[in-house]
Amino acid sequence: MTFIPYSCQTIAEEDVEAVVAALRSEYLTQGPALPAFEAAFAARHQVAHACAVSNATAGLHIACLALGIGPGSLVWTSPNSFLASANCARYCGADVDFVDIDPHTRNMSVVALAEKLARADAAGRLPDLLIPVDFAGLPCDLREMRALADRYGFRILQDASHATGATYLDKPVGAQWADATVFSFHAVKIITTGEGGLVTTQDPVLARRLALLRSHGMTRDAADMERTPEGPWVYEQHSLGFNYRMTDIQAALGLSQLRRLDPLQQARIALADRYDALLADLPLLRPARGADRLSSWHLYAIEVDDSRTTVSRLALFNALRAAQIGVNVHYIPIHTQPYYARLGFRPGDFPHAERYYARALSIPLFPGMSEAQQARVVEVLRRTLEA
Ligand SMILES: *Cc1c(COP(=O)(O)O)cnc(C)c1O
Repeated sequence: MTFIPYSCQTIAEEDVEAVVAALRSEYLTQGPALPAFEAAFAARHQVAHACAVSNATAGLHIACLALGIGPGSLVWTSPNSFLASANCARYCGADVDFVDIDPHTRNMSVVALAEKLARADAAGRLPDLLIPVDFAGLPCDLREMRALADRYGFRILQDASHATGATYLDKPVGAQWADATVFSFHAVKIITTGEGGLVTTQDPVLARRLALLRSHGMTRDAADMERTPEGPWVYEQHSLGFNYRMTDIQAALGLSQLRRLDPLQQARIALADRYDALLADLPLLRPARGADRLSSWHLYAIEVDDSRTTVSRLALFNALRAAQIGVNVHYIPIHTQPYYARLGFRPGDFPHAERYYARALSIPLFPGMSEAQQARVVEVLRRTLEA
């Protein structure tokens, strides 16, 4: 019995050829593949600017900095996310707080957000930045969040690490509503560059800041020089940047993967549709959908419906793992981590995220998954739940 992973990259022969061509070219980094990948990604996502970086965590970090986040700033994010959605604010010395999720979509609740903003306004400490997360690839309620951002005067950095290719109100995620949007190309994500990430924005000033922060805060562009150059060799440092560059080897892989984004996404949608049908009669909650948005289906996360079964999430997890099925749990609420507990957060602070986590299970979903593999996953779920 072969192991079925919860997620797995899809590498085609053309990806291998693209990487080999990059290796044989003059540039392993800072060559032509990087701007080509950025331009193609921006075109596909209907956005003016794309800044590729070494990983999405780096992208979140420099996007926070480019949006003016620093010591004394306040950043709000979703507790139901990967650690990086909150850590990026801490890198900048900012304070972090969370907004509870909508138990149906598992994304940040706009109702909870509006209530928390009203309280924060009364208390005189509004957030500077909101980092909503498109959990599992389902776009969050960006239009409503934008209305609140305009009313209360905060910026929006969308963590779309799960949502490459997802659409919201007829446009690709990253095209509008947020000030900047971050995507991840880690191996388990929708398209991959091994490690990698990218920030999109419609704002040319933000795009320029991101490009500088990605590479030491340094420019060689004559038009940008603050001083009269002593000679053509002069470079100037304008801000405290990092080395967060993506290599040309990675960008070549990303460009090749991006060309297959549509078929890769179609495969994910077909698998999600089949899971919805095959699991309909089991005591499980299936992922939400929305008529005005299309998920990229990074994850297929179910919840054990404890009002209809006494089988525990742990029992299901163990049964699936014993059957060589790579089930996983996304996410342990960030505020319950020891690091965040030391900052003062307590269990019970965000009850919907905690209740979701207590029952959640991500079952395998990746473009190369066969119907036979999917049937095996469903069979083990059924056998365990009906025992
Ligand atoms: C994967 C992920 C990240 C981090 O991405 P990397 O590219 O691994 O740094 C950030 N946020 C979310 C929601 C993620 O799933």
